[in-house]
Amino acid sequence: MPRERPPLSKFMVEHARSDDGARIRPFPFQADIADAFTDPQTSQLSVRKSSRIGYSTILQCFVAWRIAFDPARTLIYQPTIDDAEKFSRDDLDPVLQWPVVRKVATFKPRHADNQIRAKRYKGGWIQIKGANSPKEFRRVTADDVFLEECDGYPWASKEEGDPARLAFKRNLTSPRRFSAAGSTPKVKGFSRIDTLFEQGSQEFRFVPCPKCGHMQTLVFGDGTGAGIRWAPKEIPTRAWYQCENGCEIDEAEKPWMDENGEWRAANPAQFPRHRSFHIWAAYSQHPGAAWLEIAREFMEVRKDPNLLRVVVNRQTAGSNPRKTAKNWALRRPFSRLPDR
Ligand SMILES: [Zn+2]
Repeated sequence: MPRERPPLSKFMVEHARSDDGARIRPFPFQADIADAFTDPQTSQLSVRKSSRIGYSTILQCFVAWRIAFDPARTLIYQPTIDDAEKFSRDDLDPVLQWPVVRKVATFKPRHADNQIRAKRYKGGWIQIKGANSPKEFRRVTADDVFLEECDGYPWASKEEGDPARLAFKRNLTSPRRFSAAGSTPKVKGFSRIDTLFEQGSQEFRFVPCPKCGHMQTLVFGDGTGAGIRWAPKEIPTRAWYQCENGCEIDEAEKPWMDENGEWRAANPAQFPRHRSFHIWAAYSQHPGAAWLEIAREFMEVRKDPNLLRVVVNRQTAGSNPRKTAKNWALRRPFSRLPDR
């Protein structure tokens, strides 16, 4: 009899551990994304995100879930081979030592089945690859293909084709194929995660205003309507969120808002086969994602176009594109990555 497979959010609560050994409790917005990973009706997931929303943790937990409940051939593509090694050491190795994993698989140091970029266990394997080398896309057939930070992959060369496309080809012949991509978006019109998001269910997180109850998405805003507001203007010491109806919302309301929030699909025809999510730091209860921190970071880097793009990618790029069409961020010149 196969063991009963818990949804990933339940698995996270029961088995996941942070670096210091503490239990992980997913926030409501994370729980819904996590459960899409283990929903048998979902075969593709695309998450357009910023940093500080915990996507890597969800992926780590899913790898542990796979080993414990549903072994598979898993390919994880990082932007470069260096990133792949770093991910393996810093993010994957600790997971392989969780009690729930050790119950079914031992990953011994320096063992042939436990190399930095290739792990083998009963019934499955995990390979971590770098999207910066054409060799990384050859001769391997997998069930799972995960694209990490795919907007940071090199651009297609004429001979080889686009790395994201090549990666997705690796599980085309699997009868149980599952694919997921998570990335911070780069400039509009040149973003792989934008394209994937458009192809999926296009789910936005709606949260209620604690004062008037109006359901809305959170946006960075431009200081005139809804969005993050702060004072004093130059060196923020206080920040709040302005509701679409003008209410002033305090940071302390964020947990309640997430608790009462819901994902709404703009393209429900793709639900639940290909679920695509749009999420950014403003929703996160991570201390580094407090509205005041987002405002401070914006003020620090706004005069530096290069830094601004990084912050924008993490923040406004995560807001509803239909409401930020005139956003300065989307007009920044696009610098093309070199061909390989
Ligand atoms: Zn309101």
